[in-house]
Amino acid sequence: MTDLLKIEGLSAAYGKVQALRDVAISVQPGEIVAILGANGAGKTTLLNTISGVLPITSGQIVFHGKRIDGRRPWQTSRLGIAHVPEGREIFPDMTVEANLGIVDAFGGGPTFTIDDVMTMFPRLQERRFQLAGGLSGGEQQMLAIGRGLMARPELILFDEPSLGLSPVLTKFVLASIGKLKAKGIASLLVEQNMRAALKIADRAYVLRVGSIVRAGPASEIANAPDIQEAYLGV
Ligand code: ATP
Repeated sequence: MTDLLKIEGLSAAYGKVQALRDVAISVQPGEIVAILGANGAGKTTLLNTISGVLPITSGQIVFHGKRIDGRRPWQTSRLGIAHVPEGREIFPDMTVEANLGIVDAFGGGPTFTIDDVMTMFPRLQERRFQLAGGLSGGEQQMLAIGRGLMARPELILFDEPSLGLSPVLTKFVLASIGKLKAKGIASLLVEQNMRAALKIADRAYVLRVGSIVRAGPASEIANAPDIQEAYLGV
């Protein structure tokens, strides 16, 4: 199968701080790929380089066979990459509906209408005409995912989607991400709840101090004794 996303030799830095070194990963169409790693390993940085928030210092990022490194966030979004960042970045002074309505649907992925998002997240339907700033953390996360979907992505970059959510909402949000796979949407998933992430993921990579140190099927990574000890609290 042709790679949807292929990254090779990628390095990135914040001034003199080298955050990623010679990173190589790939994502197939419709695949869920988890990125594991301790705090500061470079997970957020990796997502930021893909969406174009952060420039790379070397290597290449290829999406659908075309180089996209050097593109800006609005350009990668138009190409079909949605970035759902950790801070969620919704517009608090706009209604839930308006937050969804302002997204341009330029990507080549499946179409999502505002009603489709409401069906996926019924809690948002209840709050449809309320200001987004008044939503709970879980509802804001659903809105952020909904906004990502409105752009018709083929790939979604999720940064810590369960951050600050209750265990019940975490389960719901991760299950929702799992369901996107059935629609053919691929996900690159950075998640503090690694055990839960590995349950929905097809494959995983482990980042350590900016380098990929492990890669494999999610079930294999989840059952590896060293990974369990280092990251899964076993
Ligand atoms: P976390 O789980 O804590 O979010 P992470 O794996 O996402 O961690 P990154 O946030 O990507 O890690 O950080 C990778 C490295 O880059 C760390 O050493 C971090 O201190 C550094 N770093 C991140 N953002 C900046 C910044 N804006 N300026 C300078 N250094 C940064």
